[in-house]
This record gives sequence, structure tokens and C-alpha cells, in this order.
Amino acid sequence: MRFRNKPWAAEYIAEHSYYCILGPENRKGKWHEVFGNEHPIHIEVGTGKGTFITEMAKANPHINYIGIELFESVVVKALERAVVANVPNVKLLNVNAEKLTEYFDKNEVDRVYLNFSDPWPKKRHAKRRLTYKTFLDLYKSVLVPKGEIHFKTDNRGLFEFSLMSFSEYGLLLNYVSLDLHNSDYEGNIMTEYEEKFSSKGFPIYRCEVQYKE
Ligand code: SAM
Repeated sequence: MRFRNKPWAAEYIAEHSYYCILGPENRKGKWHEVFGNEHPIHIEVGTGKGTFITEMAKANPHINYIGIELFESVVVKALERAVVANVPNVKLLNVNAEKLTEYFDKNEVDRVYLNFSDPWPKKRHAKRRLTYKTFLDLYKSVLVPKGEIHFKTDNRGLFEFSLMSFSEYGLLLNYVSLDLHNSDYEGNIMTEYEEKFSSKGFPIYRCEVQYKE
């Protein structure tokens, strides 16, 4: 992902605050009010340019999606996509997932998606991986009981690390594929990174895990 400075991004975000929520800490515990319905809330952590979340929202109008992206220059691409698609069940947050509990209340989120998270291959950076135990604590703090994490990546090292991390945490493994695109899994929606890596012939790893309580 390249982070070109986009001087117009802040202005574009302010103009489209229906989709990219400003001051999301003020919406903690009120996300159903924001969407105006009681539909389940699925969040994608590290949403990138937003193809996945927008296409998921189009395919599943009775689910509310919230994409969380650290970089303004990236979230603005997801915002442009949501505006063009005109999908009321998408919201975007330009925040750091490390502060997830500042934005969401206990039991407010029904599912977490992690797609092609940064691998942070150096061992000393393991704590930054979005499947490290401190992040699993954060997801648990905002998820409903028995909530799920759906994770996919092209990075074998990150996948191995994540399976171990999920297992050590005591999560249940409900689904695993070491080659998603050649599996019988139906209804896959590709992300930008997935398009890029699968077109180069790399296998895509995917799993679904669930908290026991
Ligand atoms: N999910 C997209 C895809 O599959 O095409 C983007 C993948 S990209 C490798 C990872 C994204 O996660 C980047 O846009 C990065 O800025 C974002 N990210 C990484 N750490 C994050 C964090 N702590 N909070 C929010 N976003 C984060």
C-alpha cells in the first residue's frame, strides 16, 4: 500500500461524514442508532481501499459494515467507493484499531474481518500483528458472546502465526482452507490485495474462528 499525501482528503471526508464518521468515540454504544436499524454489525480491521466492505454491503443489505483504516490517504479511497456505490450499510472510521474499545461497547460487534493484515515478519514486531493476543483481547471486548473472526491472507508465515495465536487463546476453529480459490467455499468476495496476489498465482489462506464465550 502506498501512502501518497492527499491534501484534499480531509475536506472530502468532512463533506462525506455520512459514510466516514467523524468523532467515532461519540458513537460508542450507539452504532445501531447511527445505522438506524438493529441489523448485526460486522467490522473489518485494516479495510484498505474498501472493495471488500462495499461489495459485502451490496451483497448483504441486512448487515451493517464498519471499515476501520489507519491512514487517511487510504480510507479516502474506500470512502470514494462507498459514495459511488451508495451503500447506506457501510460506515468508515479513520482510526487505529489499537483503540477499538474507545469506539465500540461490549457486545456491539457481531463479527470481525481481518483481510490481508500487514504481516510484520520480524519476530520483534509480532505484537503489531492484528492476530496477536492483545488484539484478540480487544476484539473479545467488543464482540457478542461466541463472536467470530474471519481471516484471510496470502502470507503463509502470518497464517501459521495466527493459527497458533488463535489456538493459544482458546478460540474454536470452525473453518480452514490453505487454498481458498480452489476450495468449495462459496460467496468469496475478493479484496484488493487478494486480487493482486491470487493473480500472481499465490494461494489464499482463510479461516474462521470463534470465541468460546
Ligand atoms: N484489507 C485490504 C485488502 O485486503 O486489500 C488492505 C490490506 S493492507 C495490507 C492492510 C491495511 O491495514 C492497510 O491499509 C493498513 O493501513 C491497515 N492497518 C494496519 N494496521 C492497522 C490498525 N492498527 N488500525 C487500522 N488499520 C490498520
